[in-house]
Amino acid sequence: MLTNSQLLAAYLAKTPSSAARHADAVELFPSGVTHDVRHQDPHPIFVDHAEGPRKWDLDDNEYVDYLGGHGALLLGHCHPAMVAAVGEQAGRATHPGSSHELEVRWGRLIQALVPSAERLRFTSSGTEATLMALRLARAYTGKRKIIRFAGHFHGWHDHLNSGDAGNLEATPPIGVLPEITAATLVADPGDEAGTRALIEADDDIAAVIIEPTGCHFGKTLIRPEFLRFLRGITEEKSILLIFDEVVTGFRISPGGAQAYFEVTPDLTTLAKVMAGGLPGGAVAGRKDILDYLDFAAANAADREKVRHPGTFNANPVSAAAGIATLTFIAGTDSCERASAFTADLRLAMNEVLEELGIDWAVYGTFSGFHLFTNSQGRTIKPTEFDPYSVGYRELMAGDGDLLGRLRLGMLINGVDVNGRCSGLTSATHGAAELDATEDAFRRTLHMLKDEGDIRR
Ligand code: PLP
Repeated sequence: MLTNSQLLAAYLAKTPSSAARHADAVELFPSGVTHDVRHQDPHPIFVDHAEGPRKWDLDDNEYVDYLGGHGALLLGHCHPAMVAAVGEQAGRATHPGSSHELEVRWGRLIQALVPSAERLRFTSSGTEATLMALRLARAYTGKRKIIRFAGHFHGWHDHLNSGDAGNLEATPPIGVLPEITAATLVADPGDEAGTRALIEADDDIAAVIIEPTGCHFGKTLIRPEFLRFLRGITEEKSILLIFDEVVTGFRISPGGAQAYFEVTPDLTTLAKVMAGGLPGGAVAGRKDILDYLDFAAANAADREKVRHPGTFNANPVSAAAGIATLTFIAGTDSCERASAFTADLRLAMNEVLEELGIDWAVYGTFSGFHLFTNSQGRTIKPTEFDPYSVGYRELMAGDGDLLGRLRLGMLINGVDVNGRCSGLTSATHGAAELDATEDAFRRTLHMLKDEGDIRR
C-alpha cells in the first residue's frame, strides 16, 4: 500500500482524469481493471490514444510506452500499414462466419516464417493456443502429464495456471481442480539433470512446454544449449516439445526463437505480434499432430477427432492486421532494430544506476528489459551484471511496494514500464525515447532516494 508521499501527491496531481475514471471502473470491474497486470495503486493511467513508441492519457500526458500492447506491438502503436488494412477490412466484412481469403494468406505467411509450422490452426488468444497445444499433445501421445518450467507463463487456463510467477510452488490455484494441477510437473528452468530425472521417472509425459528465451521474455533466462538438450531428450523419449512463442514469435526474429536458435519444436504456440495488435493466436506444428484436428485424417485413422470451434478464430480484421504486420516484419530489419535499441537502453539505464551508486541492474535479451533489485545485497557492477550468475528465484524476487513506487515515479516522469519495471520495446523506439527514458529513470531514482526508498 502506498503511503502519503511527494511521489504519490505528484502522481495524483498529474492524473486526475484517470483517477476519476478509475473511481467509475471499481464499481464495474474487480480492482477496477480488466487484466491483472494493469492493477496499479492508487489507480492506473487511462490511455486515450497512442502512436509509435508513445501514448497519451486522458489528461493529455505523454508517455514513452514499454508495455507495447503486452508485447504485441513490435511495430509500435498504430503502424500505418496495419491501420490501413484494418480500416479496409472493417468495411468489407468483420465476421463472415465462413472461410475467407485472408486466413489463407495469414496462415501462409506464418508457415513461411516459422520453421515448425507445417500446419496451423488459429485461435483467439495465446491462452487458447497453449490449451490446444496440450490437448493435441495428449491426444497424439495418449499420455497425460506435461512438464513445464517454474516461472514460465503460458496463459491462464487451468492446465498451466500453477508453477508460474504467481504460484512458483505449484500448489493447486484456487478454483482449479487439484487433479489437473497434479498432471503438470514443474522443473527448474535450465536444470538439465532435474528435467531428465522427471522424464525418466515417469512414462506418462505427453509434452514439455517452455518459453524459449526464459520466463516473461528473459526475466529468468534460458540458454540455447538447454533448448537443444530438450530437443534431444524429448525426441529420444517420444515426448512432444512445445515452444510457447506467444512473445518471442516474430519478435526476436521473423521466424521466432526456433529460427534464431535453430531448434525446431513439434508444436508452437503463437499470438501477440502475429495478429498485429488485434486479438488472435495460433497453434502450429507437425502435420501428423495437427492431423488430429483434421476430419478426413481422423476418419481414415478411425480415431476421434480433436474438436475445435471458436467464434473468433482467424477473424478477418485480425487477419488483415496480422498480414500487414508480418509482411512488414519479414521484409525489414524491425526485429534487429528493436533488439539493438533495447541493448542501448539497458546500458544507459545501468550507467544511471552506476552514476547514482545503486547496486541494481537492468538486464534482458532481444527487445526486453528487466530490473534486478538485488534483494540479497550482492556486490555487483550494473553494467557487468550477469543474470546467469543468479538463481531464478532471486531474479524474480522484488519488493512489490518499492517496485510500485518506482513505476509511479516513471509515470510521473513520462515513461510507462510494467509493475516490475520490465518492458518490451518496438522498432519505433529511437534516440528520443532512449534519452527520455534515461532521464526519467535518473529522476525517479533521485525521488526514491529522497523518500528513503533506496538507502544503498
Ligand atoms: N504465453 C506467453 C509466453 C505469454 O506471455 C502469454 C501472455 O502474456 C500467453 C501465453 C497468453 O496469451 P494471451 O494473453 O493472448 O492469452
